[in-house]
Formats: sequence, structure tokens, C-alpha cells
Amino acid sequence: MSVERTRSAAETEALGERLASQLGPGDVVLVAGELGAGKTTLIRGACRALGVEDPVQSPTFTIGRRYVGRVPVSHLDLFRIEGLEVEEPGLLDDYLTADAVAFVEWPRGGGGGIELGGEAPGRLLRVELRHAGGDEREVSIAP
Ligand code: ADP
Ligand code: MG
Repeated sequence: MSVERTRSAAETEALGERLASQLGPGDVVLVAGELGAGKTTLIRGACRALGVEDPVQSPTFTIGRRYVGRVPVSHLDLFRIEGLEVEEPGLLDDYLTADAVAFVEWPRGGGGGIELGGEAPGRLLRVELRHAGGDEREVSIAP
């Protein structure tokens, strides 16, 4: 587990870029933190590094988006979903695919006990962002 501090959105994007260099198809990155913590900002940096040119924003009115990069990239926001055992089986299957790097914005802290329904074909990484005063954020990254 690593813990870093960032002092600006640009620094958090840069951290996302570095994180992306460790990622490959099938990997799932669970990004936890409250609203405004910087989840989308970190994912934006990671997507850039993966060759995504489309704008990267929190998906709205949809659970997720797929981007074209050097590898396919999925971006989910589970803000409206209470638990990952969603009523609709297979809801995440279109996004958590073996060919894609997936980022999942998860509004709760910790991420303990979260199961991705066994659909994660690659590695699972957990990132958590916390407000640390002003523009500072504490970012922990753990397997
Ligand atoms: P989330 O997806 O967690 O709701 P966003 O990434 O959409 O958060 O928003 C984070 C907001 O906080 C942005 O407006 C961003 O510019 C601002 N911000 C300020 N400092 C930081 C920082 N160190 N890291 C990330 N975002 C920051
Ligand atoms: Mg967001």
C-alpha cells in the first residue's frame, strides 16, 4: 500500500498517469472517496496516459462509459447504486471485460468487503482519496 499527498488537481491527474503505467487489460481499479475528493480527476489522468482522447467526466444518466484508448477503457460511477450486488445480474458485465482497463468510482470509503461479483478478470487495485484541507488530498493505493 502506498499513501501520497497531492496539492492540486494537476498533481492528482499526474498520479493517475503513473498508476496507469501499471495497468493492463482486465485490471479493475476501484476508486473510493466522497464527492469532490478527486476520483474523476485521477481517472482522467489515467485515461490520458492510456491514450483516451475523449473528455473524461463522471458518467451521468448512465452507470458507465467505454472509451477508446490504446486499450479499451471502462469508467463506471456507482454513485446511485447502493451495493454492488445490484438487482440486475450482469449490469457491470459490459464494462468489466477482459480486454479493458476498468475504473470504478465508488462513493464510500474503505471499499472493504466490496465484491465485483467475480467479474473482474484481472487484478483489483483499490484507490482511496480523502480531503486533507484546502486543495490537498491524501491518496492511498493498495492491491
Ligand atoms: P469526484 O469524482 O471524487 O467527485 P472530481 O474529480 O470530480 O471528484 O472533483 C474534484 C474537484 O476538486 C475538482 O474540482 C478539482 O479541480 C478539485 N481539486 C482541488 N484540489 C484537488 C486535488 N489535490 N486533487 C483532485 N482534485 C482537486
Ligand atoms: Mg466523479
